[in-house]
Amino acid sequence: MPSASSRFNTLTLEGVGRSFGTLNALHGVDLTIRRGEFVALLGPSGCGKSTTLNCIAGLLAISGGRILLDGKRIDTLRPEERGFGMVFQNYALFPHLTVRQNIGFGLKMRGVARAETARRVDEAIRLVRLQGQEAKLPGQLSGGQQQRVAIARAVVIEPPLVLMDEPLSNLDAKLRLEMRAEIRRIHNEFGGTTIYVTHDQDEALSLADRIVVLKDGTIRQVGTPHELYESPADRDVAEFMGFRN
Ligand code: ADP
Ligand code: MG
Repeated sequence: MPSASSRFNTLTLEGVGRSFGTLNALHGVDLTIRRGEFVALLGPSGCGKSTTLNCIAGLLAISGGRILLDGKRIDTLRPEERGFGMVFQNYALFPHLTVRQNIGFGLKMRGVARAETARRVDEAIRLVRLQGQEAKLPGQLSGGQQQRVAIARAVVIEPPLVLMDEPLSNLDAKLRLEMRAEIRRIHNEFGGTTIYVTHDQDEALSLADRIVVLKDGTIRQVGTPHELYESPADRDVAEFMGFRN
């Protein structure tokens, strides 16, 4: 399946809105993300992080504005036409498929030849360091290993953009720290672009090149961890980030 977006330089959200009935979950979100960046969408529960991510993925329609990839509208395309990789909090693996089959599923669906699928699955297994676990079922793996499978499955299709929604929040504190480092390593080695949703300030500060702070469905500030620390936009941002000033 040809993806609409095999290469891109910028993803742009212009005045993106989304409502659910009378609730305005997102209003007027303007944001540009460049190829290669690791961007965190950060904010308290209910601020619109998942809604933003799902609108970018195409899992949710937008109610206003536009989403553009290199200036071309993608908000009218179906999720599979956008071709982005997704990683969810609950892993969303197929319980009856092995690690290898879970990772290869998307390639099979796209009609990629067997030999090429095997090569790319091997590469993804190495990338997420799951060698030796290929024949296991998800139920036989730890939470961290299951999340590694989910990440491998997302990157094996070589997506231009990987979207992660609180991928570590089901893990215990120790695994969370370990997988945090792994996610940044995988981003660097894969050489892709990542949008990472989290409500955890430390996670955003330690992982992201740039942080987008959301509150009540609007962007309050966008900046590098250093910029946010040096000059938070307002008291709310400073307080939420845990910076005293
Ligand atoms: P976050 O991911 O930041 O916790 P969400 O994007 O899931 O927040 O939700 C933003 C707001 O939209 C919340 O008030 C939430 O209750 C509401 N919302 C999200 N999805 C739906 C839905 N499918 N139907 C109705 N309201 C929704
Ligand atoms: Mg959410």
